[in-house]
This record gives sequence, structure tokens and C-alpha cells, in this order.
Amino acid sequence: LFAGPIDFLKGVVAMSGLPPADRLEVCFAGRSNVGKSSLINALTGRKALARASNTPGRTQEINYFTLGEERYLVDLPGYGYANAPLAKVEQWQRLLKQYLSGRQTLRRAFVLIDARHGIKAVDEEIMSLLDSAAVTFQCVLTKTDKVKAKDREAVLKQVRGKLSSHPAAFPEILLTSSEKGDGIATLRAIIAGLD
Ligand code: GDP
Repeated sequence: LFAGPIDFLKGVVAMSGLPPADRLEVCFAGRSNVGKSSLINALTGRKALARASNTPGRTQEINYFTLGEERYLVDLPGYGYANAPLAKVEQWQRLLKQYLSGRQTLRRAFVLIDARHGIKAVDEEIMSLLDSAAVTFQCVLTKTDKVKAKDREAVLKQVRGKLSSHPAAFPEILLTSSEKGDGIATLRAIIAGLD
């Protein structure tokens, strides 16, 4: 699906560090522990890949991966760490805003939501940032293997309700489980199909 190497490219701490905007990119955002690394691993079929962005020192960076020659996958720092120092939080929020509003080749953001918890206030903050930057975003429910069908419906209803007030939200919600592999091929196809 992605012709060419899938590899960690670099961690970026300032706009000046972004790689050349020579191909489409998608970014992944989500609260810490939402299952972002697991999803990126499942998506790329490379176990060690997202571990690269979870090593100490890399967690506050914008991490770039190549998805073949024609796509970048961008792993945004996890948010909602309870103990993160305010100065750090402000620093990455500034970079995040600059990135989202300034990156011409960014086609879609995937906002990961834990299927057990639904959308939280910090998720809505990111969604509002995406609205302001006019970046289309799509919600991806993670860890769906952990919820019963009935509870899943309730979460989907909550998510749909919240998305209706976000103009940049893409209406289709993806249901995924990195553990079981559910929804991974669909997500891969969506990324490959963007133009
Ligand atoms: P990150 O902090 O967002 O990168 O989250 P991780 O990918 O490290 O996952 C956080 C925890 O959730 C780990 O213990 C994972 O094993 C677990 N996890 C992630 N995805 C799934 C999933 O699809 N199903 C289940 N059952 N557990 C998952």
C-alpha cells in the first residue's frame, strides 16, 4: 500500500526542523495512554517504530515517519499528562498551533479516543485547535476490544454528539483495536487514498 520504506525520520522541536513539505502527511493525536503507539505499530507493521517516539526526550517532539515515498506519518506528542510542567505544556501547545496552521501538506488529523472513555475536555481542546487551523480531523476509537457492544454504542453516541459542534470533524468514526487488528486495514486504506 505504501511503496518504499517505513521508517522513523526525525523528531522535531521547532518549525525550522520540519522536513521539506514534499509529500502528503497525516498526523495522530491523542491523550497519553490512548493507544497511539500501538496503533502506529499496527498500522505500519513495525513493532519498534512508535517506540522510537516514546523514548524519554522524544515524547514532547513531533515525530516524523516515512510511509513509503509519498506520505509522512506524524506522531504528535501525547497530551493530558497530569504532571507535565506548565512551561513545557505551553511550549508544545505553541509548536502544535504553528504546525497545524502552517503545514500546507497536512491532509488529515486522526484524533484517537479511548473507546472506554469517550471524548474528554482535553480532546475537545485539540479539536478546537484543528477547527481553527481548518485541518480536517477524523476520530479513531481505540481499544474497542475492551468494550461490550452495548457500551460501544453509548460512546459512539457521545462522540457523534460532540463532533457535531466541530466544523473540521470528518463524520465517519473509525473503530479500531490494535490488539485484534480491527479497523487497521481501513485506516491504512484511508491514508493511502488521500490526495
Ligand atoms: P500511547 O501512550 O497512546 O502511545 O499508548 P500505548 O500504545 O503505549 O498503549 C497504552 C496501553 O494500552 C498499553 O498497555 C497497551 O498495551 C494498551 N493498548 C493499546 N492498544 C490496545 C488495544 O487495541 N487493545 C487493548 N486491549 N489494549 C491496548
